[in-house]
Amino acid sequence: MATKYSRQREEIKAYLCSRTDHPTADNVYTAIRKKLPNISLGTVYRNLTLLAEQGEIVRLHLGDGIDHFDHDTSLHYHFVCKQCGSITDFPLAYGNFPSDISDADFTGKIEGHVTYFYGTCAHCLQNTTQKGLTL
Ligand code: ZN
Ligand code: MN
Repeated sequence: MATKYSRQREEIKAYLCSRTDHPTADNVYTAIRKKLPNISLGTVYRNLTLLAEQGEIVRLHLGDGIDHFDHDTSLHYHFVCKQCGSITDFPLAYGNFPSDISDADFTGKIEGHVTYFYGTCAHCLQNTTQKGLTL
């Protein structure tokens, strides 16, 4: 039985590693079912939670109320498109923002921060512009 459970976890981890779009548990479930037809959404969710607790993957909260998962555990920023909902890595070195953190009037120990950027992605921006031109 332990083999079955670790196989499920390995498949879930492998799927996440093949994605750069930060899938939801639902997305993972839909994809994994093609390989493991008997798996349930609950099992997928439990495995994602376990992997996140073990630090093998990261659970992201990006303001849309749905958990997204990232195989990239390095500290990095994300960009959320308000039009299409896509989530991409934001190309800014972690820690460059906010730059004045050492000036903050705070004497505790800071271990990190969570920031996400949002707006319109390049793809949606192009579509909007094209629609604008044909009107
Ligand atoms: Zn978009
Ligand atoms: Mn990411």
